[in-house]
Amino acid sequence: MTHYLTDSRALQGCVKKAVRETPVFDMHTHIYPPQFGELLLWGVDDLLPYHYLGAEFFRYSSQTPEEFFSLSKQQQAELIWEALFVDHSPVSESNRGVLTALNKLRFDVGARDLNAFREYFANVAVEDYVDRVFELANVEAVVMTNDPFDDKERQVWLNSKASSDPRFRAALRIDPVLMDWDRSASRLDGWGYRVTSLLTEETLSEISRFLYEWIERLKPLYLAVSLPPSFRYPEESKRARIIESCIIPVTRKTGIPFAMMIGVNKLINPRLGQAGDGVGRCDVGAVEALAGKFPDNRFLVTFLSRENQHEACVAARKFSNVMLFGCWWFMNNPSIIREITAERLELLGTSFVPQHSDARVLDQLIYKWSHSREIIAEILFEKYEDIRRTGWLVSEKEVRRDVKNLFSDNFKRFVGTKE
Ligand SMILES: [Zn+2]
Repeated sequence: MTHYLTDSRALQGCVKKAVRETPVFDMHTHIYPPQFGELLLWGVDDLLPYHYLGAEFFRYSSQTPEEFFSLSKQQQAELIWEALFVDHSPVSESNRGVLTALNKLRFDVGARDLNAFREYFANVAVEDYVDRVFELANVEAVVMTNDPFDDKERQVWLNSKASSDPRFRAALRIDPVLMDWDRSASRLDGWGYRVTSLLTEETLSEISRFLYEWIERLKPLYLAVSLPPSFRYPEESKRARIIESCIIPVTRKTGIPFAMMIGVNKLINPRLGQAGDGVGRCDVGAVEALAGKFPDNRFLVTFLSRENQHEACVAARKFSNVMLFGCWWFMNNPSIIREITAERLELLGTSFVPQHSDARVLDQLIYKWSHSREIIAEILFEKYEDIRRTGWLVSEKEVRRDVKNLFSDNFKRFVGTKE
């Protein structure tokens, strides 16, 4: 006999437990297995100078970006620790994230002793640390961001030392092809593809060959690009032509989704380097037009601007070949995650991917999932509680089914890795 959760308290406990215990398939990150060498960032001296915190540092410090970026990462970590944690209270989400990660690693965070953290990281083997982080974050696997235009990463793949660790899955990132074809043409030319900056028939077929070859090499779960707020479709541009003539047919034939992360205004303050990107409101109509024109293609979509989230939910209701995912970058703040997760549940039921970590530093997996799990559990409980009052009771098995869909199976089904 099915045991339904009749009592509000029992329901809340059950939701919290299911959310805590269900492993996550983290569908978008920037972390790598140890055999990718220096591409894998980890430990407190990578965590502190990360651009999330770097951007906040300049709000307190009189140091110029030029001075700051000329320092070693250890020196940068010390300055950030002083400015953001010691001289001011670390309440921002990126600061709190560092504290959560250190706390879950069982450090005495309150002692405020940066060198004590460093001592641990100096003595731990990276392979062991990867295991520990995956366990603490309760993540079963992550999807990397794999960029053939990055010389270091390209070499790893060409030397075929690619990931054999099943916890690290690939995603083919192709921003330079869509965002800067003129420059990318000469790179492809240098790699032996017969391309020119003009999009002739031969060039388009060679771009497709480039994509097929990298899909064969990486076995990616999807092909991805990050796009600016000015992205439109349809439009008269090289970008739109490459999407129509290459991306759409290649992803359809290979059966992988095309992921669009839309809303980043690159380098609005170039002096800040990686911390210099901004956000802008996008045209959700571009996604609707693509999803409508190419019903046999699948699109993973996330927007960087809070103002786009409601329209995005409505678009996903109309097009089942659109899967909304995550609370991306500037959206990844508790107040916004709470709002968007509720909005998505109200408009899409459980048919979306509520979160991805976007972790660039391995340790970020710990806090991103800890913070998000807390919020997702709260919102899910509220929604079950709302239907409970009508007399519709859920069982623990049903709660676990829903959480598993949200944390892994919706994504796996969408990319076709779940039978
Ligand atoms: Zn990312």
